[in-house]
Amino acid sequence: MAQRPRFVVQRHRATGDHYDLRFEADGVLLSWAVPKGPTLDPTRRRTAFHVGDHPLEYLLFEGVIPRGSYGAGDVVVWDTGTWAPHGTDDPRAAVAAGELHADVFGEKLRGRFALVRRGEPGDREQWLLVHKRDEFAVEGWEPGDHPRSVLTGRTNDEVLAEHDRVWRSDLPADQADVRLRPTADEVEAALGALADLGAQGTWEVFGRGLKVTNLDKELFPGRDGEAPVTKRELLGYTAAIAPTAVRYLAGRPLNMRRYPNGSQTKGFWHKERPGHAPPWVGSWDNPEADEGETRTYAVLDEPAALVWAAQFGALEWHAWTSRTDQPHRPTYALVDLDPGTDTSWEDLLVLARLHRDAFAHLDVAAFPKVTGSRGIQVWVPIARGPTFDDTRAWVERLSRTVGAVVPEMVSWKWEVRSRGGRARLDYTQNAINKTLVAPYSPRASAGAPVSAPITWDELDDPELRPDGFTIRTVLERVAQRGDLFAPVLAVEQTLPPLA
Ligand code: MN
Repeated sequence: MAQRPRFVVQRHRATGDHYDLRFEADGVLLSWAVPKGPTLDPTRRRTAFHVGDHPLEYLLFEGVIPRGSYGAGDVVVWDTGTWAPHGTDDPRAAVAAGELHADVFGEKLRGRFALVRRGEPGDREQWLLVHKRDEFAVEGWEPGDHPRSVLTGRTNDEVLAEHDRVWRSDLPADQADVRLRPTADEVEAALGALADLGAQGTWEVFGRGLKVTNLDKELFPGRDGEAPVTKRELLGYTAAIAPTAVRYLAGRPLNMRRYPNGSQTKGFWHKERPGHAPPWVGSWDNPEADEGETRTYAVLDEPAALVWAAQFGALEWHAWTSRTDQPHRPTYALVDLDPGTDTSWEDLLVLARLHRDAFAHLDVAAFPKVTGSRGIQVWVPIARGPTFDDTRAWVERLSRTVGAVVPEMVSWKWEVRSRGGRARLDYTQNAINKTLVAPYSPRASAGAPVSAPITWDELDDPELRPDGFTIRTVLERVAQRGDLFAPVLAVEQTLPPLA
């Protein structure tokens, strides 16, 4: 006997909250949107809208449909199980005739439901959904009293806050289900597949097939007598860190700096999307781009997209501090501590510690990282609202106050020509389209150093160096200490007024 077909009810918060009732039949999901949700109460009739068939791949999708896409919102698998049509063996014909009776065997829903069309056939037909009076009927039963996912126990709010899957409704169904957090096993499998490739081939990585070339090319010399960094090693690092790093890039325009042979090249993704970019790599057209300015940006929304960017030669990740949906509203304020031509690292640390004290005094959560080059950045997460003018003014005031403590050490952005050996407090990076290197981004130099989050306490560690962590050491650090920047994604604070 054939396996019973499956059914699902997804609670879907989009432009309106509703429940999507779907029955597997003929290789698709027959679908209705039920605003108030199905109920076991036989005295309640529910309005249901017949909507287009959905692909089978969507059956157990739980996660987020991105902004700007069809059905944008969050989805939990509210119920699932098997079902059998009653009184017909051709459910599609029954739907066409305007009446379907279904016996469902779910975790929440049980018993027989009837779906009956009201009014004329057409685009968004209105139907009625009612539970029959049978042994499974429960008067007074309301779906809102049972809000959690039967797959993971999560509510819609919890899925939205920590989602690990995205449905790309702009892609074919077999490419639409994006896993944002590959498991440790999936990362191992991707690294194993990379090791098994020759100089080139198709790499199966996080559900995507990616053409990779010149894997044994040396991109950078090693440090201190170590082996050179090959493209294969860099792609492997990118895959290993991508589940962590993608969270700082998703939804943000990426400035591509390409280093296909280890040094920077012109002629990168610029005026238009390159023809060889796979369809699952996101992009965004800046509607405000002027003639001659970059118009089309890559948006790396999934781990495999970082790997694609690395294969494309974009070894460094420089993302906007705002997202494409509100490009004029930053999600971080930034303090960029950049050494002058001969500022000592010790001087830079003095400035960084003064900022540490200032943030503690202000009770503002702020997170430092070394840039992988010569400097230190402090990221200050904010609730969206302030403009770049606001954050720039705030950081300028903060840094001027801090800098006044050690005026001999500091110069300002507009005094750049005279700054000589003094460190630069560059609050002008708080601007649209100014980009700072993202956490865990490799830097294109010997040994492939990495921009690495640090704790404030590490400013007092005599071993700390701005380029001290590399693609060969930072994974171990993340495995031991976790992602020190994780709060940057969770904290939504309002910057206090500065006197
Ligand atoms: Mn829906």
